[in-house]
Order: sequence, then C-alpha cells, then structure tokens
Amino acid sequence: MDCNFTEEELNIRNTIRQFARKEIAPFIDQIEREKKIPEDLIQKIMDMKITGLPFPEKWGGSEASFTSLLLAIEEMSYVYLPCMFYAVVSAMTAYGFLNYASDYLKEKYLKGLLTGSLKGAWAFTEPETGSDPKQLKAKAVKDGNDWILNGTKRFITNSGIADIAVIFALTEKGVTAFAVETQNPGYIVGKREEFLAFGGTDNGDIILEDARIEGENILGEEGQGFNILLGVEVFAKVVSCAGNVGLAQAALDYAVQYAKEKTHRGVPIGLKFQMTQWNLATMASKVAASRAFLYSVGAKMDKGENVFAESALLKIFTGAAAREVASDAVQVHGAYGLSKEYAIERIYRESKFNEVVLGTSEIQRVVAANALMKS
Ligand SMILES: Cc1cc2nc3c(=O)[nH]c(=O)nc-3n(C[C@H](O)[C@H](O)[C@H](O)COP(=O)(O)OP(=O)(O)OC[C@H]3O[C@@H](n4cnc5c(N)ncnc54)[C@H](O)[C@@H]3O)c2cc1C
Repeated sequence: MDCNFTEEELNIRNTIRQFARKEIAPFIDQIEREKKIPEDLIQKIMDMKITGLPFPEKWGGSEASFTSLLLAIEEMSYVYLPCMFYAVVSAMTAYGFLNYASDYLKEKYLKGLLTGSLKGAWAFTEPETGSDPKQLKAKAVKDGNDWILNGTKRFITNSGIADIAVIFALTEKGVTAFAVETQNPGYIVGKREEFLAFGGTDNGDIILEDARIEGENILGEEGQGFNILLGVEVFAKVVSCAGNVGLAQAALDYAVQYAKEKTHRGVPIGLKFQMTQWNLATMASKVAASRAFLYSVGAKMDKGENVFAESALLKIFTGAAAREVASDAVQVHGAYGLSKEYAIERIYRESKFNEVVLGTSEIQRVVAANALMKS
C-alpha cells in the first residue's frame, strides 16, 4: 500500500528496510539467547538517525515527515521489534524536549538525542502505577533554585544506558517533568527486569535518592507534567502502532511461507485446507486494515491535526490485530509454531507485549470513550 508517499518517504522506507534486513536480522538469535543488544548495533541504529526523522533541522533532525518515521519503524519492526524500542524511546524523549523545553534545555539535550550522541529515557511508571498520575509517589521539593528528587521508577526502557532521562514527580503544584542527567549521583540504576519478550532491551528500575536538579531542568512549567505526558504519549503511541503493523506483516508472511512449504499428502496446506486459507485471508485483512489506519493517522499528524482520541483507537485496533494475526500464524504452523526454532514463536510473544506497553487497551478505551462522550 503506497498511499501517495513522497519520493523521500519511499527512499527512507527502502533505506531502513535494507538496513534492518542486513544489519539487524543476523543478530536476532544472538540477542534472544544473550538477552542483550550488542552496543555497536545500538550505535548503528542511532547512527541511522531514525529518531530525528520528523524533527527540525535546527535541532539536528532531518525535517522529514512524521509518516517517514512510521515507515522506518514499521520496517525495523518487521525484522525485529525490540530494536525499534531504542528509537521510539529516544524519539519520545526528544519530542518532549522539542515541544515543552526551553531553548537552553533544547540546546543541551535535544541536539544530542536527535543526532544519536545521547540516549534518552522517559520515566513515568512506578511500582504502584503505570496508568494513574494521581498515584505517583516520586516527589520533588524545592531547595533554593534547585529541586531534590526522591522516588522509584519501574519498567523504564533505557534506564541503564540513557544519558538523559525525563522523570515525572509530584511537586506542590502537581505532576512535574524533570530533565535528569543519568550521571547525577542521585540517579541509581536498580534491578533489571526480564519479560515475556524484548529480552535484549535495557529495562529496569531507576532509584532517585536526593537527586539534586537545577531549577532550569524542568520541562514546561511546574505542575504541567500530566499534559506533557499526554502530549508525548500520543506521538509515542502512534509510533508504537507502526511496530504493530510491521510485526503483523511479518507474522502473515511467515504463515504464508509455511503454508506453501508444509504439505499434506503432497499438497501445500495453504492450497488444501480451507481452514488454513480462512486463517490466512483473515490475517491479511487485519494487516491491511491496520496499515491503512496507521497511515491515515500519520497523514493527519503531518497536517498538524489533533489525533488524541484516534491514537487511542489506533492502539486498540492495531494492538489486538497484531496479537490475533500472530496467534493465527502460530496456528498455521501447528506444533512448529510453538518451537523456538521458528520466528513466529518470538513474534507471538512480542505481539502481546506491544499491546500492553505505552498504555493498556483498557486505558485506551477510557480515552477514546471519553472523547466520544464529549463529541
Ligand atoms: C518492556 C516495558 C517497557 C516499558 N517502558 C516504559 C518506559 O520507558 N517508561 C515508562 O514510564 N513506563 C514504561 N513501561 C510501563 C508501561 O507503560 C506500563 O506497564 C503500562 O502502561 C501499564 O501500566 P501498569 O503495568 O502499571 O498497569 P496498571 O496501571 O497497574 O494497571 C493494571 C491493570 O488495571 C487496568 N487499569 C488501570 N487503570 C484503569 C482505568 N482507569 N480504567 C480501566 N482499567 C484500568 C489496566 O488496564 C491493567 O489491566 C514499560 C513496560 C514494559 C513492560
């Protein structure tokens, strides 16, 4: 589906497609085994400057369209979803700086995030909540011009490798977003988490122990943190849905390939069994619908339209579609679909994973339904 993409968008898609297939694919087994993405591969991903695609040149971006970023993430995720996570987390951190930070903070951090010399982290979730800002426990108190930050953040991607983290904490005026350098002696990397999937990504706790933050290192104003969170999550959510589309396409392609190769009494199962054909056709319809929905939201973002409610619908739809397509693809593979020898086993785990992170489907339904009720 080409949706009248510009030549630049098609070139970006092609470049990232080749990069992912040549540079990332050969490492997948090693990463899954060792649960670590090699440092030089992370650097290569950062060097592709995917993060900076839709950002202004002034701050080190490429001034490409937002759609270009979606196409790049879709291609990366088609090959290996976990690798796109680095780009997404750095991009959302950069998006936070671009839209809410002072020029002083942009100069200090945004350029580095967009050119690949700095890695970012975005830390909202805590041991007791990932959905409700009212339950945040991390606190910041004023000390002269500085802030003193204490608390624990959980499930934070890039927690151990980031250079700069945006940390959400409560102050007297509400949730506030702080830019915290990870070299700060009060920034302590806690236990690393192991998950159903994404074994190679860096994820874990951040413990803030009397971290002293300069007064200038606030994004927006004191108390504006929740709005910043919502604004950045729209961007990140749509980008993560490009991951769902890439993943679903990969699941479909593996299923079709298997249905051609696996024979029953000499005939490929994809030609012989109507149930297998049913599965393949259903999967293909969900992939096509997800992709069309993704590109339409991308086009609206490129026009500067507000997609707050639509981003929630997109996450609900593409998240479920990717999981269902991956599940059906396992089914087409039979017992081999459960074997670690086959990529579809990993893709199935990744699909469930991507449905939960960046806001569960229940929260997305709350957002979408509230918007409907206000319309
Ligand atoms: C690998 C990984 C990477 C992550 N990276 C980051 C990161 O970089 N930064 C970050 O801040 N977080 C990160 N997270 C956290 C992730 O975004 C949250 O886990 C997710 O948003 C869900 O939050 P929770 O687990 O605390 O669920 P909870 O908020 O505790 O919810 C538990 C259940 O209750 C439901 N629920 C909660 N509130 C409502 C409601 N109002 N209405 C209906 N149902 C509700 C939820 O849908 C869910 O089913 C990451 C998580 C993982 C697994």
